[in-house]
Amino acid sequence: MAIILNGKEISKERKAQMKIQVEQLRQKYGRPPHLAVVLVGDDPASLSYVRGKEKACLEVGIFNTTIRLSEQTSEKELLECIAELNENPLIDGILVQLPLPEQIREFVIINAISLEKDVDGFHPRNVAGLYLKQPCLYPCTPKGILTLLKSIPDFSLDGKKAVVIGRSNIVGLPTFKMLLDQNVTVSVAHSKTENLQELTQSADILVVAVGKPKFLKAEMVRPGVVVIDVGINRDPQTNKLCGDVDFEQVEPLASYITKVPGGVGPMTICSLMENTIEVFEKRVAKK
Ligand code: NAD
Repeated sequence: MAIILNGKEISKERKAQMKIQVEQLRQKYGRPPHLAVVLVGDDPASLSYVRGKEKACLEVGIFNTTIRLSEQTSEKELLECIAELNENPLIDGILVQLPLPEQIREFVIINAISLEKDVDGFHPRNVAGLYLKQPCLYPCTPKGILTLLKSIPDFSLDGKKAVVIGRSNIVGLPTFKMLLDQNVTVSVAHSKTENLQELTQSADILVVAVGKPKFLKAEMVRPGVVVIDVGINRDPQTNKLCGDVDFEQVEPLASYITKVPGGVGPMTICSLMENTIEVFEKRVAKK
């Protein structure tokens, strides 16, 4: 039976520490950090993620403004909104909830967010910073995954073999680089990978970010593996939230495993709070 890597608990503890830190910052600088979240459209999943971020801000004491724009918003209108937020000296962090409606090009919007306010860590210069080991903001989900792995007692990442399934810009690729920087030997698998099972069976650590319910099955893992399930899906049978890992099958074989919900999701939000505090401290320190 595996030990659960409880993202909900770990994030709760870290948020309690951040609350103290934010209060100290508020006393020192006269205001708390301020995060602006922009939501375009009414996608229910995006709406629920934004609500989660608002709740976390409230818990930590970070000031939050959510700007809701209609599904029909043009790219130009969204760029204008971002320009205003970039200019506003009282806003420290900007997050545009993805995905965006099809008339808006994501890369244009990501590039438009001021580097110093890019709490998602998606700006090309933050991405370059990650790859070149220069100071940068780490993207929230991979940062949360690393925090979870580092929470395992007496577990060194040095020399471990990891397989990351998924090569997206927001999860798979940055997770690959962040694990590599921890001296992990990392393989990245994707939709065209052949003999995936052979690869996954060799892994000490599996990070699964595929977006397919219960994709990872028992026969794909070796006993003792550490499993991080990034997926957020609806189970087609029950309509309940489920991950990319078939938890019932894999959990008995794993040494540590995350659950969905309650694993990577809360850690992503926790990393966002950390990044917001980090940008605030950099901005106020500049003045
Ligand atoms: P994506 O769709 O951009 O990427 C999916 C990846 O899976 C692709 O790189 C693709 O090559 C790979 N893939 C697809 N089919 C495969 C197969 N049969 N074998 C091997 N690889 C395959 O998705 P994403 O944005 O990286 O998100 C992945 C999942 O993680 C989604 O369920 C998403 O909702 C979730 N997610 C969760 C969080 C969180 O905070 N918990 C954050 C971001 C994304």
